[in-house]
Amino acid sequence: MKAIEADYLVVGAGAMGMAFTDTVISESEATVVIVDRACQPGGHWTTAYPFVRLHQPSAYYGVNSRALGNNTIDQVGWNQGLNELAPVGEVCAYFDAVMQQQFLPTGRVEYFPMSEYLGDGRFRTLAGTEYAVTVKRRVVDATYLRAIVPSMRPAPYSVAPGLDCIAPNELPKFPAQDRYVIIGAGKTGIDVCLWLLRHDVSPEKLTWIMPRDSWLIDRATLQPGPTFIDHFRASYGATIEAIDEATSPEDLFARLEAAGTLLRIDASVRPAMYRCATVSHPELAQLRRIDDIVRLGHVQSIEPTAIVLDGGSVPSSPSALYIDCTADGAPQRPAKPIFETDRITLQAVRGCQQVFSAAFIAHVEFAYDDDVVKNELCTPIPHPDADLDWLRLTQSDMSNFQRWLGDAELTDWLRSARLNLLADLLPPLSHKPRVRERVVSMFQKRLNTAIERLETLRSEHASAVPVGESL
Ligand SMILES: Cc1cc2nc3c(=O)[nH]c(=O)nc-3n(C[C@H](O)[C@H](O)[C@H](O)COP(=O)(O)OP(=O)(O)OC[C@H]3O[C@@H](n4cnc5c(N)ncnc54)[C@H](O)[C@@H]3O)c2cc1C
Repeated sequence: MKAIEADYLVVGAGAMGMAFTDTVISESEATVVIVDRACQPGGHWTTAYPFVRLHQPSAYYGVNSRALGNNTIDQVGWNQGLNELAPVGEVCAYFDAVMQQQFLPTGRVEYFPMSEYLGDGRFRTLAGTEYAVTVKRRVVDATYLRAIVPSMRPAPYSVAPGLDCIAPNELPKFPAQDRYVIIGAGKTGIDVCLWLLRHDVSPEKLTWIMPRDSWLIDRATLQPGPTFIDHFRASYGATIEAIDEATSPEDLFARLEAAGTLLRIDASVRPAMYRCATVSHPELAQLRRIDDIVRLGHVQSIEPTAIVLDGGSVPSSPSALYIDCTADGAPQRPAKPIFETDRITLQAVRGCQQVFSAAFIAHVEFAYDDDVVKNELCTPIPHPDADLDWLRLTQSDMSNFQRWLGDAELTDWLRSARLNLLADLLPPLSHKPRVRERVVSMFQKRLNTAIERLETLRSEHASAVPVGESL
């Protein structure tokens, strides 16, 4: 057993562990040991399918101290006119560069890839050497979110022998097929449909198994920087207005759709899912070309001539290619306190903004002394799943944000953080303090009204509808 020591032992070199460590070494003199069972940093990105891209702009993904991408607007393709979206290769190369060019040269970070964390500060390397880390400050659990991509596990339903059921990773290796069956309607299912359509596969050849329809975010409303600030402010304002005026959750979704904030594939089907997936309008138009959408719940089994689902069977052909897109890329895990005596458990403190959240938590770790205060500032926001989670997530987002704006130093940090999508909503640091205080206070009041309205909408709905039921 080898003994080493560090201020922080970060378990997991995925996007969150990397974003946390970056802020630690930028804002303190602390030392860090990073352990990961994978051979390179980047977490689930290192095993994802080869055609996956970020679905939010590169401009606010990665670590705070280093830009990802070139801050360009796409000139071609279905993301035309919007900020670039890094492909998986770029995301992995980026995290590798952060590790090799930024972390390790400081001499304050030690990185152990191919190493299994065993608990109690101990880990084992590929060569079998066991290390015991004396952790002077805290162990940081950067594995809590448990992102799963289809290539990490077998399909969760039975597939008759002789049929081809693959993870999206294998799709580019397959020759042309007469029929493609895409199982799952989350971000991965959307990516697979778009990939096939982009390669001129006729939509008539696609069957899309959609257990639940989803509310989708219009990616145009999530664009950062000066080019998009007017549109961004208008969308944010329209969302707050919709909340203020809504008379029920159903009415709220209608207003958000009318305002263009939320989109859906089929206007005649009420979505029961919301998982923060984004699409552009051209992508939505492509997805709407697929007519054969099966809405009979989850797949139970795939037989040679039929797909058996919760709500019935549909005929299929033995020569169809089944693409399993059912893994839960962002499971809804129970919230737990982020700061405990000798531990930090990284979780989202802004809905679906994991890397921003990890960097924010690291900043809070150094900016405040008291764990009670730290936990008040860092209320975890579990990933959304059902439609109504939009209300819960937005209310929690706004409550956290409003609390942060109560502290001038934290507001300054938020204004300058690259990973903060909402940075441009805050007054520039060059403005006079009195002017900035006034703007921030007005903003807090607007947030407060929306938070109260969301609380009312949620509690009225909860008392009117049996627990667990969707809209
Ligand atoms: C296809 C896909 C696309 C996405 N696109 C976006 C996007 O555009 N924008 C966005 O904000 N989010 C996106 N997400 C969400 C994404 O999950 C987060 O952005 C982020 O990558 C999650 O990182 P993580 O560090 O929490 O988890 P992970 O990437 O899962 O990293 C955890 C790490 O911990 C390691 N580990 C676990 N247990 C142990 C152990 N016992 N010992 C050693 N090591 C261990 C694993 O090897 C892994 O490297 C996407 C997710 C998916 C699946």
